[in-house]
Amino acid sequence: MEIKAIRGFNDVLPAEIGKWQFVEKTAREVFEGFGFSEIRIPILERTELFSRGIGEATDIVEKEMYTFTDRSGTSLTLRPEATASMARAYLEHKMYSFDPVAKLYCFGPMFRHERPQKGRYRQFYQIDAEIFGVANPIADAEVILMLIHFLKRVGLENLELEINSLGCRECRPRYREELKRFLADRAFHLCQDCQRRLQSNPLRIFDCKVEACKEAISEAPKVTDFICPECQVHFDRVKEYLGMAGLSYLLNPRMVRGLDYYTRTAFEVVSYQLGSQNAVTGGGRYDNLFQEIGELDIPGIGFAIGIERLISLLPGEKEFVKYPHVFVAASGGGTQKRAYELANQLHLDGIRAEADYEGKSLKSQMRRADKLKARYVLILGEEELNRGRAVLRNMGDKSQEEIPLQDIVDILKDKVKQRGKETF
Ligand code: AMP
Repeated sequence: MEIKAIRGFNDVLPAEIGKWQFVEKTAREVFEGFGFSEIRIPILERTELFSRGIGEATDIVEKEMYTFTDRSGTSLTLRPEATASMARAYLEHKMYSFDPVAKLYCFGPMFRHERPQKGRYRQFYQIDAEIFGVANPIADAEVILMLIHFLKRVGLENLELEINSLGCRECRPRYREELKRFLADRAFHLCQDCQRRLQSNPLRIFDCKVEACKEAISEAPKVTDFICPECQVHFDRVKEYLGMAGLSYLLNPRMVRGLDYYTRTAFEVVSYQLGSQNAVTGGGRYDNLFQEIGELDIPGIGFAIGIERLISLLPGEKEFVKYPHVFVAASGGGTQKRAYELANQLHLDGIRAEADYEGKSLKSQMRRADKLKARYVLILGEEELNRGRAVLRNMGDKSQEEIPLQDIVDILKDKVKQRGKETF
């Protein structure tokens, strides 16, 4: 039986990879411009990192983690998100001893055992950016500004920034109690999961997709009516700084985010092109995370962008596939060896050259060049080769010219540059 990929785990094929590379390259440029540095962290961590960091009573920890015991009996988990690992690395390597402020980003796959559907996979990729060590709301505005700038740079439109404040350890418990009280009379309308959540983590009910639960919670009190004066000042500053940066936003008091560690600012960027899975990015402040996983009290703020969802929103007309610059076509006799030699020379000079491997006829090589969408075909005929020349055919306008072979690299470099598409 043929072996297939696991459900919810996807291949990213060469036809798609240009978009991924474009997104990652743009993220690197934008984030490094904002003073962030890349960090690479492991895919496997001890299970406690996530159960303590993300919170036992979250969907992720309760039912979505890929957890197993390894051969030495340790419980390990494939990371469902990157923030907890980045915080662990910051603590483990005492990055704070160099400078308490760390601005970090990373790319990579995350794993959650969710029900696969369009826009929701079991292995999916995220771009994460975090600022550790800054409690000031300037950091909240800065990461949001960087995020929006990045999304615009990759070409997204129809986006909406939604923000909320979730309060802190001091004021959120009061809101939880209020919410419990409000939902107590409506509990029999709630789905089974939400009946459980009502006791363990009532804020999660806001994220439930079941209509009856949405209905039951629609008139619930707003978290922002319960936040303490310090959280209120923080939230007001965030809004002020966003305004100063020219960003508009929507206040969404029902956006609570799925992870326990968020405090104060929570935000999402929503796209109206995506159907039900419409959040392309989520983020927020998490001033308690470090205490859950270590001993230091360090504030943090950041976001995670889902790469698959972001890519599904990229403008369709943009050219992402890298086609060959030139197809070197051998036309009989001893020309195939010369084609091999020339293609190698072009490769070493960074020109994407393809050639025939099978001694096919010129006609079939031309067909292949066409199929591969090569921009030029360099036709090597015996007679021209003897004179140190070859024919260069422009596959776009079908024009042909004879050129000296010794100049081929320079000629091609010039032509490709002129198109303004890329530099070598
Ligand atoms: P979260 O870590 O849950 O805040 O999610 C951050 C972003 O990751 C979301 O806005 C999505 O774009 C993406 N994301 C989360 N879960 C999935 C999933 N199962 N499949 C694909 N993308 C996801």
